Amino acid sequence: MKTAPANNSFNKSKVDAALTKNGNNLFILQQRRVHFKLSTRPDRQQELLKKKYSPINNPDAIGFKNDKQKVAKTQAQVEDEAQENEFQKPTSVLYRKDKLNLHWNKITSIGAGLRNLGNTCFLNSVLQCLTYTPPLTNILLASEHGRKCKTQQFCMMCEMENHVAMALGSGKSSVVPRSIASRIKNIAKHMRIGRQEDAHEFLRFVIEGLQNSVLRGYEKLDNRIKETNMIYQIFGGYLQSQVKCLECKYNSNTYDPCLDLSLDFKGCDSVKRALELFVKPELLSKGNKYKCERCKKLTNAQKQITIYQAPMVLTIQLKRFDFARSFYGGGKIGKFVSFDEVLNLSPYMTKSQQETPIYHLYAVLVHSGSSCNSGHYYCFVKNSNGIWYEMNDSSVSQVSLKTVLRQQAYLLFYVRDPSSIKKHSKVNTCFTVIEYSKYRGGGVFFIYI
Ligand SMILES: [Zn+2]
Ligand SMILES: [Zn+2]
Repeated sequence: MKTAPANNSFNKSKVDAALTKNGNNLFILQQRRVHFKLSTRPDRQQELLKKKYSPINNPDAIGFKNDKQKVAKTQAQVEDEAQENEFQKPTSVLYRKDKLNLHWNKITSIGAGLRNLGNTCFLNSVLQCLTYTPPLTNILLASEHGRKCKTQQFCMMCEMENHVAMALGSGKSSVVPRSIASRIKNIAKHMRIGRQEDAHEFLRFVIEGLQNSVLRGYEKLDNRIKETNMIYQIFGGYLQSQVKCLECKYNSNTYDPCLDLSLDFKGCDSVKRALELFVKPELLSKGNKYKCERCKKLTNAQKQITIYQAPMVLTIQLKRFDFARSFYGGGKIGKFVSFDEVLNLSPYMTKSQQETPIYHLYAVLVHSGSSCNSGHYYCFVKNSNGIWYEMNDSSVSQVSLKTVLRQQAYLLFYVRDPSSIKKHSKVNTCFTVIEYSKYRGGGVFFIYI
């Protein structure tokens, strides 16, 4: 028998969490010093398991690379750092992500166009993009919410259920989204019909309204649990913001919920390049130094934002409207920015996540005109039959993918390829194997669940 070495910076909270999940509460409750048996030669059974399951505590991700650094930190420091830098998982889940169907439940012909009620093209375009969002519309068409909803007040979910049923099931060439348009003040207090509004802002309010509907009765829960509501599970993800002190090398991580990526594209002509700039490390120095908790002073630091948890539906806003500055002539950057039908987010992910999320384009919202308060919005959507259509108010016409990819996009909507979802995020509760191995870098714990 051998005691686990004290200098080991294995991630205690992850180990505890994994063991708790597996029902082995005894391990944690008794708070006993744990003895690990040193494996003398590779165990065939374990080798087979390793091929089947992935380690949840990747040694590279928890700082085994730099030996000097490891020696410089005390065990307590390492544990503190791991704790405060870790993503706090929700303690319970309101809607399981694996219940979402990212494909269409049913293939139908294209739905109706939406009549313009006077400057309502921003509203029509957003509603059309949402209507062709498979995981959302599958749920709306099944009336999962409406069947149980008892509220007498305005309910965005009930409104969307009715809208989608009308747009996809009426058999008409165009319908009037009167109910939603007449309740615009319930969706966004400051918006009004007859005035051109920003489509992205309207989209944000609709998504917020949908979340409020499904969270009715759960208002008192903590935010991390609230962020497991059905709507957030479709559109939401998390960004990691990491600040690294360049003197003591201390990393400070924060995690922010995110419902879309707003990309700057000054100086670049593609979404890929804009994403590269989005995750590019930024040096905090001179007048913008970082207050390091370890050094207890202002130091030079490096800040980097990466995608920590990729969403099921990715919404990208190209920041065409510069509200703060007017020197772009009317406040809009009108240049063409190229985008692809297939998008791989892995180069922009937090390294430790080891995810390769692949997405397929399904809707593009376009603005033509010189500022967000004028001009015209229309959109392109991919129907459940795989054919692309231009939805321009009441007009619906079939287009080629080539036409879609030529557009001066304002919003891009991508749905994740289900085959690119990390399999071992599903916890298998059958067994846990703890191995303390000399063979893999020495003194590294591998836990397989
Ligand atoms: Zn409702
Ligand atoms: Zn420092």
